[in-house]
Amino acid sequence: MTLAEVIDLLDRIALVDDRVVRADEIEQEAQVTMWAAVLRDVPLAFAGEAVGRHYAESAWPVMPKDIASRWRDQVRDRLNRSTGTFEPTDHPHLDPDEDTGDAYVAALRAHRRAIAVGDHEPVGLRELMPAVGSRLGGGRLAELVPANDEFRTVKEERFPRRERPAGPPERAVHCPACGASPDKPCRSLERRRVLTTCHGSRRDVHAAAASTDNKGDQP
Ligand SMILES: [Zn+2]
Repeated sequence: MTLAEVIDLLDRIALVDDRVVRADEIEQEAQVTMWAAVLRDVPLAFAGEAVGRHYAESAWPVMPKDIASRWRDQVRDRLNRSTGTFEPTDHPHLDPDEDTGDAYVAALRAHRRAIAVGDHEPVGLRELMPAVGSRLGGGRLAELVPANDEFRTVKEERFPRRERPAGPPERAVHCPACGASPDKPCRSLERRRVLTTCHGSRRDVHAAAASTDNKGDQP
């Protein structure tokens, strides 16, 4: 995946899980760079599917290693099912016409990595849940949790929003002054520094949105 594809993927993940993407834009840049390094060999389409499968099985925020290990597993599975020679035609995810270079090399590399780690086992969900106790119903959390509205409700209950700096409520809307996306902090117009406050016009937009959304509710 390229950097642009990683940003695309993180945008999509943010729609279903607000715990994954960093709120601070400087941290976000570091995050994108890190994900791009870990997922260099993983195609975007595969990563998207892997994220969906992750949230079908886990209530934990997806991490790049979760996607990378699914990719390794898939490549290894396909290689194990092949006859011992690495034929591109044995690998439906490789298009011999289109993927003559990168995907083929990526698959070979992933194969070597899979062999290098030997009996690599993705860490089981139960091993990731040391604190499963009475409050969480003794292991029931390890059951399948679909990534839908129900999932999000349950997630909010079990994993209350992190105490990330909440920032002003005006961040809920797009900033017309500096162009900050919803939930992203405003940046100074000249030096693009992250601001703890919001631009006046963003406050106006937020006030207008709030008066339409929650008729009568005081913010
Ligand atoms: Zn702004």
